[in-house]
Amino acid sequence: MSEQDDRESKAMTEDMKEKALQVTAEDFVNYLNSFGGEIRCSYCGTGDYGVAPDPAGKGTAMVATPVPNFKGVGIWLYPATCQSCGHTIFFSASFVSRQIFKD
Ligand SMILES: [Zn+2]
Repeated sequence: MSEQDDRESKAMTEDMKEKALQVTAEDFVNYLNSFGGEIRCSYCGTGDYGVAPDPAGKGTAMVATPVPNFKGVGIWLYPATCQSCGHTIFFSASFVSRQIFKD
């Protein structure tokens, strides 16, 4: 486990998990757009990244990855997918939700 993974697992308290689940697709799009400019896909160089809602339609889509050798520990990620080629990038749900709810 790297230091970053360790910080990630410790950072995801029950409160942060709840906040990560409350982030809507619109919140995530606004977060991505807060970096300004026209950000294009890093693979095809032409497409815009799109964000999908979760299957229940309440929050933004999220995936979780297990951390090898640590049962019950994982990293939650928000995906953004290129609308031209399908290349998908991931953002840390704990980091992004902390930025969105920091006020
Ligand atoms: Zn692309």
